[in-house]
Amino acid sequence: MDIKELWQSTLSQIQLDISKANFATWFQNTEIIFIKEEKVVVSVPNAFSKEWLSNKYNKTILKILHGLDDRIKDVEYIIKPQAAVIIPPKNSNVDAEKANIEQLNFEEFKIDKETNLNPRYTFDNFVVGSFNELAHAAAWAVSENPGLTYNPLFIYGGVGLGKTHLLQAVGNKIVENSKKKKIRYISSEKFITGIVNAIRNHNIDVFKSTLSQIDVLILDDVQFLAGKNKTQEEFFHAFNSLYEKNKQIILSSDRPPNAIPELEERLRSRFEGGMIADISFPDYETRLVILKNKLQEKHLDISEDVLDYIASNVKKNIRELEGALNRLLIYSKLNNSIPNLETAKKLLKSYIFSPFDVANYKKIIEAVSKFYNLEEKDIFEATRKREIVRPRQIAMFLLRRELKYSFPAIARKFGGKDHTTAIYACKKIGQEFNNNNKLTEEINLIKQRVYSG
Ligand code: ADP
Ligand code: MG
Repeated sequence: MDIKELWQSTLSQIQLDISKANFATWFQNTEIIFIKEEKVVVSVPNAFSKEWLSNKYNKTILKILHGLDDRIKDVEYIIKPQAAVIIPPKNSNVDAEKANIEQLNFEEFKIDKETNLNPRYTFDNFVVGSFNELAHAAAWAVSENPGLTYNPLFIYGGVGLGKTHLLQAVGNKIVENSKKKKIRYISSEKFITGIVNAIRNHNIDVFKSTLSQIDVLILDDVQFLAGKNKTQEEFFHAFNSLYEKNKQIILSSDRPPNAIPELEERLRSRFEGGMIADISFPDYETRLVILKNKLQEKHLDISEDVLDYIASNVKKNIRELEGALNRLLIYSKLNNSIPNLETAKKLLKSYIFSPFDVANYKKIIEAVSKFYNLEEKDIFEATRKREIVRPRQIAMFLLRRELKYSFPAIARKFGGKDHTTAIYACKKIGQEFNNNNKLTEEINLIKQRVYSG
């Protein structure tokens, strides 16, 4: 086998294991340039591919190569720059331009009436990195064997990080694999309204029987079930009846089950009974890959320095990343020119100089009270009720830790003359923070909100 064939065979095996998007991103423009003793030298187009291949895919690549030729013991990646990106000629046809703009991200995909799924969300265009690989793997497994692997599948993570995309990708994949399966995607808000209306109109039985015929139930954003007792009760029964029949249930939330306030214990333990996977924040490299993928979808060439600028500065979430790109796309369609770095900086001001990434007193109080489903004023209430004392202590702890407030300053904010309460709170939460995983996770989630607006 010559080196070309060797690499072709390797690629065709890798292709089976990863999504199209990832494959295109990481393996395009790679080739074996030579084999020296026991080492294969592979050329890659840039530093990101190099880093990604050597950190993420090296084991797989080596295993496959070794399988094909057992003399091979090592792989090295070197950068071989590609020819400069060729920018397509300007298109002056106004109608075509218009049509293009409409196509941008506003593309009206047809949401299926039966399943409520949006075909835009697929595994193929879902970029995987260390921040979401567990969630992705679990979702993929579920799509291959609905009802039989992880049930329920519970995905959690902050806003705009891909929960809905992933949930719907599972749905779309199952539709693709089997047309017969009844799949239903429902946002929790719609679910709650559905139940409230059904109760009001005395047809809850119809609602229940429709639910019980579903093969795959996808319920998005279940944190909204907090405090909705009637909905929780109905959902508990629906859950059990589906679960007993090995029907797949997929859930998402902005936090893990044990951090959803006012969630019935029995429901919480159901949520925890399957697979729980989180999605965190993508790192710089992954942000760049996501941008490149979206660009490919949108057929636009934006220079590397602009992409680097976006990936380095837009960190809040993936939705913002897309927003930034769309801003540039619209500009480029309207002006018939591709924005350079200077223009991009101007256009993206609102994304980048957002006041989101600094903490302040107001944000801490808001984030803590929202997280625990309290009104902001509740946190200041003079009471010993645990549901209030605890969030209050956490707020004090965060003021101290994140903003370096003095104890007397904290005490003043909470209307107290005595700052020993503040000292006590910070010490207590501080100790627990190191020893209690649930609390650590809660505080981390609160911090994410403080810092991401
Ligand atoms: P969430 O439900 O967590 O708030 P979404 O699933 O709505 O987030 O994602 C926000 C946007 O970012 C969507 O347009 C989605 O397609 C895109 N997106 C999120 N994660 C990824 C990913 N890993 N790869 C590609 N696009 C993504
Ligand atoms: Mg969502």
